[in-house]
Amino acid sequence: MLVSVVVPCMNEEDSIPALVERLARVIAPWRDRAEIVLVDDGSTDATWAAIEAARRSCPLVVGLRLSANRGHQIALTAGLRAARGERVFMLDADLQDPPELLGDMMGMMDRGYDVVYGRRAERQGETAFKRASAWAFYRALNLMSDVAIPRDTGDFRLVSRRALDAVLAMPERARFVRGMFAWAGFRQVGIEYARAPRALGETKYPLRKMIAFATDAMTAFSTRPLRFATRMSFAALGFSGLMMVYVAHSLIVYQTAPGWASVVLAISLFSGVQLLTLGILGEYIGRLYVEAKGRPLYFIAEDTRETEEAASAAPVPLRKLASA
Ligand code: UDP
Ligand code: MG
Repeated sequence: MLVSVVVPCMNEEDSIPALVERLARVIAPWRDRAEIVLVDDGSTDATWAAIEAARRSCPLVVGLRLSANRGHQIALTAGLRAARGERVFMLDADLQDPPELLGDMMGMMDRGYDVVYGRRAERQGETAFKRASAWAFYRALNLMSDVAIPRDTGDFRLVSRRALDAVLAMPERARFVRGMFAWAGFRQVGIEYARAPRALGETKYPLRKMIAFATDAMTAFSTRPLRFATRMSFAALGFSGLMMVYVAHSLIVYQTAPGWASVVLAISLFSGVQLLTLGILGEYIGRLYVEAKGRPLYFIAEDTRETEEAASAAPVPLRKLASA
């Protein structure tokens, strides 16, 4: 198997026919040695039926259905683990990332790269809020993280088997796949493209999921927030030193303690800092707890490869019986 395409799909019933059609065209040069792995991430619409239908019209399609919704990054992981190709190409179901780039990416990989990632030079049809938050997110992440994670990239990339195996060897639950590939190393290169608007359906990333995703990314790739408390304690010491001078001055000059405002200010400032610090600790402790439980990332409810093997395996003994 030369190339596997992996696509996580949640409630993408509308996108799948167009997606498979375009992928089949792009993958035609390698069609004898290719597969298209579509992972249904616990969809509540007819995504699974659409995947089964796609499988009937295009034999390269392999369908995996997770037992429940586990989120984009885990669905992607499930597909990556199931992929058998020497090279693996991943993209979103909504055709925001042009599959036609596969040819160029394959060419770059022939020149010895292990990871060829798409870099969004332009984002069409996305709200100003999404663009601004993505911009801030990638910059903040790089300020805090110890790994250089390429800016403005998604999970749209082609990776070699050894880069993929490196990422699959990482057992963590909080999976920020693009960061994990950056951390894995090997030779990496970006390719610029214009990100199209979503072809059909609507975004599966509401603000709530975007925040969870960003928090996972920050905590998975940096322990710098944990040092926030230490750094703030220096600021607090400096501030209280100034306060001491002010208090002494007030006592001597006015012989009273009129400082209501300063007391309220100090209390609210420091209780805010304390709560924030506790919250940061909580984020890490919660993640330690989840990692410590070591639960499997997902369960596969259905795998078209298995159901077909079972279907083709069953009649064999019967036929043998008949001929005997
Ligand atoms: N997705 C998924 N599980 C989820 C959320 C999203 O598998 O819980 C998939 C979705 O079907 C799509 C990809 O992840 O293929 C990216 O989602 P989307 O295009 O909605 O995100 P956006 O481009 O708006 O950030
Ligand atoms: Mg999208």
